[in-house]
Amino acid sequence: PEPQLEADSTKKTLVILGTGWGSVSLLKRLDTENYNVIVISPRNYFLFTPLLPSCTTGTIEHRSIMEPIRTILRQKKASVRFYEAEASSIDPDRKVVRLIDTSEIRGDITETEVPYDMLVVGVGAENATFGIPGVREHSCFLKEIGDAQRIRKRIMDCVETAAFKDQSAQEIDRLMHMVVVGGGPTGVEFAGELQDFFEEDIKKLVPEISDRFRVTLIEALPNVLPMFSKQLIEYTESTFKEEKINIHTKTMVKKVTDKTVEAEVTGPDGKKEKVVFPYGLLVWATGNAVRGVVKDLMARIPAQANSRRGLAVNEYLVVQGTRDIWAVGDCAVAGYAPTAQVATQEGTFLARLFNNMAKTEHLESKISELSSTLNLQPGNSAAISHEIEAHERQLRRIKDVKPFHYSHQGSLAYIGSEKAVADVTWFNGNVAAAGSLTFLFWRSAYLSMCFSTRNRLLVINDWLKSKVFGRDLSRE
Ligand code: FAD
Ligand code: NAD
Repeated sequence: PEPQLEADSTKKTLVILGTGWGSVSLLKRLDTENYNVIVISPRNYFLFTPLLPSCTTGTIEHRSIMEPIRTILRQKKASVRFYEAEASSIDPDRKVVRLIDTSEIRGDITETEVPYDMLVVGVGAENATFGIPGVREHSCFLKEIGDAQRIRKRIMDCVETAAFKDQSAQEIDRLMHMVVVGGGPTGVEFAGELQDFFEEDIKKLVPEISDRFRVTLIEALPNVLPMFSKQLIEYTESTFKEEKINIHTKTMVKKVTDKTVEAEVTGPDGKKEKVVFPYGLLVWATGNAVRGVVKDLMARIPAQANSRRGLAVNEYLVVQGTRDIWAVGDCAVAGYAPTAQVATQEGTFLARLFNNMAKTEHLESKISELSSTLNLQPGNSAAISHEIEAHERQLRRIKDVKPFHYSHQGSLAYIGSEKAVADVTWFNGNVAAAGSLTFLFWRSAYLSMCFSTRNRLLVINDWLKSKVFGRDLSRE
């Protein structure tokens, strides 16, 4: 169809914030013909986060897990507007979103407003630092493509600096010490990828310093991967021991400097002791915090006063205390973990809900139109009544939308050395699996979840390329 340039005044304006798991799965299934759809996000692509840890070492090249939003939108039946910008605030009374162009190149207009009739907030979360001093200044996070690129660059910078002429033994030890804080799946998967990189490539290509390479994973709780079953936690910890990844549990980081991590360890007798870890690379993966735009919106809605972790939503994902705002994914508090799996199902649910709402409105106006013709055409009354009844039956069927229900398919994590752990739901039961076969399952599951055939082929190509030729050690 011809792209429609001006908004259609007969349709409601649906504004969607974000191009992540929640928003994109909504867009994928939304019938865009029913609304004037506007998407706003500072990122003009979708990112397949489960394979992001593999980009930090070059097992996968970053563009293989990105899908341009423009390509996604072109496949929609009716045109959708996209603005590459950050939503800086939302005014639920005036029903407008304020947006700012935060990219490098800016035009005369860098800030403006977009009015909405319906709004979906899918802005995700930011990195939690708990206000620990030095974290923002000195560590790398692992959430966005830029983070993975920074880590990849820094690993090689540490290695090349350690190999620098006349470097002292103590400095080599520091530079070759890679510290990961947070033993959730992000920290664990990254530590595994890092160890693979070292074993399979760095060791061979930079042998003179290879015996000094160390990976340390620091976790405040008594064990890593708390969301997995006990046997899989034990399997992960013993695999890490074999891979020579040092795990420090019950160790809470309190301060970070440019070269050290200072932590407090709780001993078996409950006594607390201070430890210092000198590092070359520090990756901070301690979970999610609420984004500024979400905090600001929460402060404007009295019903959100007691919510701490994000926008509290009801069973239809409506933001509590509002009428026309919905939230999906990591910025929504619906009682589920902040995962891609949850965000996808929430986005899909909203697409169905919005498609239904449009159909309902259409049927209701048809029924009232037919009812008014009923009096004008008495000769036709039987046929018209019959048609009205059919519409009413259809209306009852689609109006009966069930609340959102999350169906957990399981948890999967890569732990290095071509091994993975999986807690999956199988015929209503739980199956825990670990090892090399699980790794093949992990690869095939993620491959099938990739956004497009193009992504899938690129990822397969990257896996083959790094297996055959090794990872690329050039520091871009
Ligand atoms: P996101 O996918 O983070 O998307 C948020 C979007 O909002 C982005 O496009 C962002 O640019 C945009 N945005 C940000 N600020 C603004 C603003 N002010 N205005 C407008 N737009 C904005 N989950 C799993 O289930 N399985 C996994 O294997 C898995 N692996 C992961 C690996 C890593 C390394 C990470 C970091 C996460 C992983 N997750 C995994 C979690 C998963 O990625 C998140 O739960 C998921 O991305 C949440 O989706 P979302 O749509 O809420 O947010
Ligand atoms: P997380 O919240 O799951 O884990 C963070 C860990 O950091 C916690 O175990 C916490 O105890 C620890 N921590 C916090 N402060 C600390 C401190 N000062 N010192 C030491 N340790 C500290 O975070 P994540 O791993 O980034 O995951 C975020 C979300 O994304 C989760 O919902 C997770 O399930 C999901 N995710 C899933 C996968 C997967 O399924 N494979 C992969 C990555 C992320």
